[in-house]
Amino acid sequence: MKPISSDVKIETKALHAGYTPENGGPRVLPIVQSTTYAFDSSEHIAALFDMPMEYMYSRFANPTCDAVEKKIAAMEGGSGAMLTSSGQAASLLSVLNLANTGDSIIAASAIYGGTINLFGFTLKKLGIECIWVSNDATEEEIQSLVKPNTRLIFGETLANPALTVFDIEKFAKVAHANQIPLIVDNTFATPVLCRPFEFGADIVVHSTTKYMDGHALQVGGVIVDGGTFDWKASGKFPEFTEPDESYHGVVYADAFGPMAYIIKARMQLMRDFGCYPSAHSAFLLNLGLETLPVRMKQYCANALKVAKFLQTQDKVLSVHYPALENDPGHELAAKYLPLGTSGVISFNIKGGRHTAERFINALELATNEVHVADIRTCVLHPASSTHRQLTDEQLVAAGIDGGMIRFSVGLENVDDILADLKQALDKA
Ligand SMILES: *Cc1c(COP(=O)(O)O)cnc(C)c1O
Repeated sequence: MKPISSDVKIETKALHAGYTPENGGPRVLPIVQSTTYAFDSSEHIAALFDMPMEYMYSRFANPTCDAVEKKIAAMEGGSGAMLTSSGQAASLLSVLNLANTGDSIIAASAIYGGTINLFGFTLKKLGIECIWVSNDATEEEIQSLVKPNTRLIFGETLANPALTVFDIEKFAKVAHANQIPLIVDNTFATPVLCRPFEFGADIVVHSTTKYMDGHALQVGGVIVDGGTFDWKASGKFPEFTEPDESYHGVVYADAFGPMAYIIKARMQLMRDFGCYPSAHSAFLLNLGLETLPVRMKQYCANALKVAKFLQTQDKVLSVHYPALENDPGHELAAKYLPLGTSGVISFNIKGGRHTAERFINALELATNEVHVADIRTCVLHPASSTHRQLTDEQLVAAGIDGGMIRFSVGLENVDDILADLKQALDKA
């Protein structure tokens, strides 16, 4: 078979990009369950230690993972991608590939709670300072936070769980005016609903654990390189433009051009940290990706109906779903997420924390679980779970209230989801 053209639409890429069967070869992406690869000569292996451009060891590259990486890169419109063993690992490596001890980064405050911990506490221990900025900040306000040691700006397309829509173009403009890249966590939107590279992002990360996998089967992450950031012109990234002593002096920007970022991440960080997924995990992720475009459209259709229903309920104080016309995020959603804003809705129930807990306990179809973006409807109370480590101040900054419920609409028949909500609201 011939590889598919890069001009095909995302539904076609989801099925065909990354793996092309050879004549008589397996139709479905094979699981290459091997830690290592065999070579004819020690010279060949020696050459790989200078320039590991073939499979060598499954701590940092594997044929099954590679095919899935190529598929995700194609779906996002990037130059290359690297899978990681979790979304957290993707966020961490995406930053460590650019920032060292003594550097600072800027992050939008409406992002995933785990990323807030990672940036605010763990990166701090490594000597990397995170400067938080409100999603509503003006370009001037963002600019005022940029220091000579600032290495990147980070935001999340559709924040988990606040659902704040990130103004990608605004932040990209400030980043590029300062010759630094913009990293966007595109987990909730997925490349089906938004492709951040089209709006100026330079690097995209995902927790593939969410919609990409979709079936709650395995934790995973991915980093995608947009391939357009000019490391040489920037002048701020000597690790890209000067020889890497750990690879016999390779200069990533010269040797790899538009793939410099992702190859450096693999050759240095994945080699040293080893947070690479197994071939079997990548195989399962691939199954999720194949149906991602179909599923995303149905999640959006179901969730819009649920959001509209919740708006009509007396016991519901407010509903936050940016696809709703009266939502404060609607204008940005119309620009960045015209097909819909995923299956995740957040709403505040009257009576605060205790009523919220009673309501959740009364749900029968929706599962109470620490997960989101599942094929099955699920529900969570962020203030007492995912975000319980945050101070009240951080909770407000992340857009979370004690009565807030995160409701992840699945692919059941929407009438059954509405009936479940109705009976639980009656009991709350
Ligand atoms: C879940 C999540 C992460 C972390 O991903 P894991 O796969 O759980 O490590 C990062 N960002 C967002 C937006 C998430 O929803």
